[in-house]
Amino acid sequence: MSKGVLFIVSAPSGCGKGTILAEILKSGNIYYSISATTRSPRPGEVNGVNYHFISKEEFEELIENNGVLEYASYCDNYYGTPRKPVEDMLNEGKHVILEIEVQGALKVMQKCPDAVSVFILPPSMKELERRLRKRGTEDNDVIKKRLSQAEDEIKYAENYDYIMVNCELEKAVNDLAAIIRAEELKKENTINLIDEVLCNA
Ligand code: 5GP
Repeated sequence: MSKGVLFIVSAPSGCGKGTILAEILKSGNIYYSISATTRSPRPGEVNGVNYHFISKEEFEELIENNGVLEYASYCDNYYGTPRKPVEDMLNEGKHVILEIEVQGALKVMQKCPDAVSVFILPPSMKELERRLRKRGTEDNDVIKKRLSQAEDEIKYAENYDYIMVNCELEKAVNDLAAIIRAEELKKENTINLIDEVLCNA
């Protein structure tokens, strides 16, 4: 059995990647890695579903015990990818999506050179600000911080394998689905099929 493909998806906060990924995950054959974070839950977020919401002390213990594949500090909070579920899923042949910011993404690209990375751009900075304000979950200072963080993050987009724009949800979902499908069908991931076909001749 081939190993699953590890996908890294990054986009500035408010860019709509959560909505795109929710559509992609409906297919059911991709595992979404649930990150750990020290940030407080937003209204409607559920522990163990959106994130594992943990304390700073618990997070630092995870780091010490080599429990995270990568982690980063983002807007004064820790975010990290629990290592074991990701490794288990990939070994079981399932694809895994990490929805992580750029510093963590760069670390995963180094550690896992086969990972496929996708950066989602907003149509413009003005539109990003409009989306963040419309979400209404952060105060003005946090929005300003996230916008300046977004500008910094976008400069790293050139390090990713794919760059796409989220102008319109349906098109963005189709673009990401096309990337995932193309990667699934890459020779490295389908080479076993040749023997299978020949054996069943
Ligand atoms: P938010 O607070 O808006 O949920 O997430 C803030 C940023 O942290 C987003 O860019 C999100 O992709 C990123 N993030 C979420 N989980 C992780 C993680 O496990 N590792 C890293 N490096 N970034 C993460």
